[in-house]
Amino acid sequence: MYILKNSSESKEQTDEPPSPSVLDQRTRLKSTVISIQKHHKKHSCWNDWRWQINNRIRTVEQLVERFPNLANRNEIAAVAKKYPMAITPYYASLIRSACPTDPIFAMSVPQISELADPAFLSEDPLEEMLDSPVPGLIHRYTDRALIISTTACASYCRHCTRKRIAGTRETAISQARLRQIVAYLRAHPEISDCIISGGDPFTMSTGSIEQILIALRSVPSIDIIRFGTRTPVVLPMRITDELVAMLKKYHPIWVNTHFNHPREITEQSRQACAKIVDAGIPLGNQSVLLRQINDDPKVFEQLCRELIKIRVRPYYLFQCDIVKGTEHFRTPVSKGIEIMEYLRGRVSGLAIPLYIVDAPHGGGKIPVLPNYVVSVSPTHTVLRNYEGMLVSYPEPEGLCDAPKAGKPKDDADGVWSLTCGDATAIIPGNSKRRRRRQNIQPENDSSARERF
Ligand SMILES: *Cc1c(COP(=O)(O)O)cnc(C)c1O
Ligand code: SF4
Repeated sequence: MYILKNSSESKEQTDEPPSPSVLDQRTRLKSTVISIQKHHKKHSCWNDWRWQINNRIRTVEQLVERFPNLANRNEIAAVAKKYPMAITPYYASLIRSACPTDPIFAMSVPQISELADPAFLSEDPLEEMLDSPVPGLIHRYTDRALIISTTACASYCRHCTRKRIAGTRETAISQARLRQIVAYLRAHPEISDCIISGGDPFTMSTGSIEQILIALRSVPSIDIIRFGTRTPVVLPMRITDELVAMLKKYHPIWVNTHFNHPREITEQSRQACAKIVDAGIPLGNQSVLLRQINDDPKVFEQLCRELIKIRVRPYYLFQCDIVKGTEHFRTPVSKGIEIMEYLRGRVSGLAIPLYIVDAPHGGGKIPVLPNYVVSVSPTHTVLRNYEGMLVSYPEPEGLCDAPKAGKPKDDADGVWSLTCGDATAIIPGNSKRRRRRQNIQPENDSSARERF
């Protein structure tokens, strides 16, 4: 079963995506349709999200029809047997060259390196299964719970952290499971934030999504409901007026999506995001740090800048989990810290996500930052800014040992002089900002005030 079945839905059969077996048959039939299409020519049903799902590229043969020069076909076929492939025609149209140096290709087409199997990798390093008190629900943090609403996605990301689930079969949560989940949530009123994840919940029909929302809204202790969905990126036509009109009935609703590369931001994805935000739904982004895709600080900066232009707030940048089948995407943690160092001070704070390592053994999300606290004493904290300026922040009087009496000196003698309050700052002499300041010469206090 692909999506929730219940009596209230039988009247809207047309809204139902087909069952997997029907889906495969249709894919076979429709593959001729795709082959008739010239490379970037769009089918008349292009903007119909169900057409996009029914016409996903699922086999190497279909991939070859689309990319006649495709290399390593046998390898791709072998990997797709273990970890399924699905690429929407829309997402495939963003591929510019059929090789792994193309970021869209690398994120969607299987590579032989997925079968590499170092011993420290695991299928479920976050130990989600051990935090699952009822099937389909993960309860790790006190006040939040995550629901696996479906195992289907529009496209299967090669770097998926739930590779053990996503696409292995394409089934949606049953009414029975949903009832169990509601019972658990009722018994745990400390949970106020429910995350509808998967798989990709927006591959379900609008009616099925609404059934889940109705179930969750029947639990009084649930304050906010959020969705994790990649459809704005891989299937933007899924964000229909009908969908957002339904969602906004169940506010407060939040959505997080998953852009990884600036090339994923297109006119269509921009429109999808606009529809979500215009419905009053705050829209965040959760990127994954991927080797040779977005691990260049300049590429990541461009992604973040483009995201805030389409009103998507960068929320998290995830370090790759140690999941089987994704080793070739991993970067050292130092790469994430380097990107954070690069962004701070250079880019609007609104455009800077938190860099997160989701800890093995189910340790949960841990934010990782460059070190900004350089030294501490009972009276002063010594911080550094993005320019390398060192500055001493005096603690409040009376709470700790009082800061030393007397005016601090301008000339510092090392970090220690900041720590004990003898000086207030160590300022790099060659920073851009310093040069900018030299052009501003306040004549007196009142003219300084007028500037603001
Ligand atoms: C990520 C995650 C959440 C949500 O975490 P936030 O930091 O609140 O975004 C909740 N539950 C599970 C199991 C998660 O993996
Ligand atoms: S959309 Fe999400 S769940 Fe689906 S394959 Fe991609 S990362 Fe995994």
